Amino acid sequence: MLRFYNTLKGEIETFKPIEPGVVKLYTCGPTVYDYAHIGNFRAYIFEDLLKRTLKYFGYRVIHVMNITDVDDKTIAGSKREYKSLNEFTEKYIKAFFEDIKTLNIEKADYYPRATEHIDEMVKIIKGLLEKGHAYEKDGSIYFKISSFPNYGRLSKIKIEDLKSTGRVDTDEYTKENIHDFVLWKAKKEGEPFWETELGPGRPGWHIECSAMSMKYLGETFDIHCGGVDNIFPHHENEIAQSEAYTGKKFVNYWLHCHHLIVNGEKMSKSKGNFYTLRDLLAKNYNPKAIRFLLMSTHYRKVLDFTFEGLKQANSAIQRIQNFIYELENEDFHEGESKEVKEILIETSKQFDEGLEDDLNISVSLTALFSMIKKINILRNKKKVFKKDVENILKWLKKINTVLGFLEFEVKKELPPDILAKIKEREKARREKNYALADKIREELFKKGIILEDTKEGTRWKIIK
Ligand code: AMP
Ligand code: ZN
Repeated sequence: MLRFYNTLKGEIETFKPIEPGVVKLYTCGPTVYDYAHIGNFRAYIFEDLLKRTLKYFGYRVIHVMNITDVDDKTIAGSKREYKSLNEFTEKYIKAFFEDIKTLNIEKADYYPRATEHIDEMVKIIKGLLEKGHAYEKDGSIYFKISSFPNYGRLSKIKIEDLKSTGRVDTDEYTKENIHDFVLWKAKKEGEPFWETELGPGRPGWHIECSAMSMKYLGETFDIHCGGVDNIFPHHENEIAQSEAYTGKKFVNYWLHCHHLIVNGEKMSKSKGNFYTLRDLLAKNYNPKAIRFLLMSTHYRKVLDFTFEGLKQANSAIQRIQNFIYELENEDFHEGESKEVKEILIETSKQFDEGLEDDLNISVSLTALFSMIKKINILRNKKKVFKKDVENILKWLKKINTVLGFLEFEVKKELPPDILAKIKEREKARREKNYALADKIREELFKKGIILEDTKEGTRWKIIK
């Protein structure tokens, strides 16, 4: 039974989708004015873990992630570079898709762009005006928060304390003040605009997520995610405008991941304390280690980014990878052991229980590492057999549908100079020059390569 912490309820709840077996999921996507930083990717990896976990437990997931391609920042960027809005954002949209591929994040089913859903937004804003939840001022249209008594339920801002401090026209907002937020912005000189029934202008930021989620997932759907910084005002505003429009509950489960921080501060573009994925790849960090690092701290805990942490993530992956490599390449005797079978059943149970408990990945990973340790002890005692290895590898492949950072059947190639050394040693052995053969064996061992002489010839194994 899957359980998640629902921000709306402020507690852990058993997950039950509206339609049995199907989960409708919406996650707030990138604002495409720059490359995404790894703080953003923490959110996207958490969402990927959630989605893969849902699939692992047998659900079909319909996932929508929006692309914010019109807002204050994208407009400012396009002006700075003397480009059309589309031309400017296209570069970052392309980079975003490359980055999620690098991090092995599964693609959403839909990536709606704000600029392609103006009609849907206009329709909702018109409805809100008709129902008295919105008003017009100087060509812009604002949502009247006093018309929506439930305002504040998600972020736990007390309604009695709500003091409207007037209207805000920007997509950049302060967290401290409650405002009537902008739904539609009147046309401004030098900014892109759309001619609509609401007059010429462009949408505010929040409305796009209501319009696009409802279009692809229906008026009420299962899960909505983002980082904790999205809770207020973005998600609070999404709830207000959506529920005021439909009269129905907007979303059943709200899941938010905590921040990635650097030196005690949230990683963000505005603070300048960020690394993009590309920055880290340029420093030769392994994308799988980045994925591991972003995933392995529970999503509701703050994750402190350090290069030391990234190195440790890399060694953790190497430990599992070596184990896989050895299982795939060593010879095991025919047969199956009861002991291994029991370890696997217990590990698999713990792994699943971790995930079921609000995506407690640390429990799942601990189970995995502890299994590797136990199996290695049995391997040393020659108590692991062919069928066991098959079962372990099958299970590892299964859990990799969730983890997404393991590799199987990787053909490791040795550099030519090492291969030449192995040939030289084989020749020495044929010529019974065992002193030279041993010397080469020792030399290669120091480089992390173990040689084994069999009837079929010399076999090698990489140990580091
Ligand atoms: P943005 O492009 O700023 O709208 O952010 C896209 C997603 O990344 C949102 O879900 C944010 O909550 C999330 N996000 C931004 N910065 C961080 C951070 N430092 N740690 C975790 N998530 C973040
Ligand atoms: Zn959103």
